[in-house]
Amino acid sequence: MTPTGPVDYAIVGGGLQGCLLAHALAWHRPDAAVWLIERADEICGNHTWSFHETDVAEGARPWFDALVTHRWPGYRVRFPGLSRRVGIPYATISAEGLRDATLRLTLPSQDSRDRRPLIVQTRMACEILSPTSLRCGDGVTIDCGAVIDCRGRAATAEAVGGVGYQTFIGHEYRTARRWPAAEPTVMDVREDQAGGFEFLYELPFGDDRVLLEYTRFHEDPTCDEPRALELISGRLSEAGIDSPELIRTERGCLPMPYAAPERREGPSPAGGYAGGWYHAATGYSMPLAIRFAELVARSRPDRLGGELAAAASRDAMRRGFARFLNRLLFCLVMPEDRWRIFRRFYAVLPEDRIARFYGHRFNAADATRIILGRPPTRLAPLRFARSFFPISRPGFA
Ligand SMILES: Cc1cc2nc3c(=O)[nH]c(=O)nc-3n(C[C@H](O)[C@H](O)[C@H](O)COP(=O)(O)OP(=O)(O)OC[C@H]3O[C@@H](n4cnc5c(N)ncnc54)[C@H](O)[C@@H]3O)c2cc1C
Repeated sequence: MTPTGPVDYAIVGGGLQGCLLAHALAWHRPDAAVWLIERADEICGNHTWSFHETDVAEGARPWFDALVTHRWPGYRVRFPGLSRRVGIPYATISAEGLRDATLRLTLPSQDSRDRRPLIVQTRMACEILSPTSLRCGDGVTIDCGAVIDCRGRAATAEAVGGVGYQTFIGHEYRTARRWPAAEPTVMDVREDQAGGFEFLYELPFGDDRVLLEYTRFHEDPTCDEPRALELISGRLSEAGIDSPELIRTERGCLPMPYAAPERREGPSPAGGYAGGWYHAATGYSMPLAIRFAELVARSRPDRLGGELAAAASRDAMRRGFARFLNRLLFCLVMPEDRWRIFRRFYAVLPEDRIARFYGHRFNAADATRIILGRPPTRLAPLRFARSFFPISRPGFA
């Protein structure tokens, strides 16, 4: 559906960032005409987006809280020799829930019979021409108050160089009986880590559903499907779940940059992955995507560029540190020892520091605490040094 009148905000890309921004604008600028354009058949794709409740900026609660599909009071991590419950509330937004909530914004608002807070256009790819104009798939140029780039990952990871990857394969099952754990296990790390850092991620959704996701941190962006299936089916057997029904599969790969930030250079303000508004070291987008949505919705459109630049500069230490951690992980630490870094993180950090780290709110003292300590015995200092002067992408032979 294309707008018939003037457009105040055109959001290009209906993924996590674009949809959160639509909700923030509907709340903070109820009179604005907002147009969300998505090139795929539907908005939101196929995802489960989890986050720590402490990631949510207070100002965002009024529009954000209703989007949450599941909440747990805490979660567990398991490593060889360490099992810890972290008492930070954890939560999830499903793509289905976010899609439904976003499409509800396209209905006429209660106070006005005709006005719709949002117009959604799917199956249309747009080219952004300037901060206030875009060219639609049909070649028509549209002028608007502000164009916001939420087109997701730039296709530049390999070109930029200096990245590791986090690959995922998640299976959501309907089970005949209740999953044995009531809370998520965010990292279940087994002894054998020869292939790089890998773990299972477990989200129990109520009585009869569970998401089991295999995650691997590696130089190779391809998913190891046989390994994922081996670990997932092993966990189902351990839990005593026979013949569960597979109801959804989600897979993907996130670059974990350590050299230049992965960011699309473009003519308009960019959020989400396109603008570098993600946590480079954890792969979680939610904390920064919420912050970006709040910032855009609260700023005057003509001041947006300046406000975003100021926010990025306030966050520069954190962005740089997250990338430095990736450099340590992928260049200095041997693949089979990477799990030790995460084990130490959970062994020594108190909950307030963990919350600040995941929420991309950590301070210099937190950063120091994260890296101080005895490193694993086998390191690759030459490889680490070479990573600052990349000639070709490094790899462990
Ligand atoms: C398997 C997996 C699990 C993850 N789990 C989590 C998690 O638990 N928590 C978390 O915080 N993060 C998680 N992430 C990361 C998170 O999903 C992404 O970082 C996040 O989706 C980025 O949001 P985005 O809006 O920038 O991009 P996307 O969500 O990718 O959305 C971009 C949208 O723009 C559209 N688009 C692109 N080009 C155009 C164009 N020219 N015109 C119109 N539309 C266009 C795309 O079709 C897409 O729908 C996970 C990622 C993966 C792969």
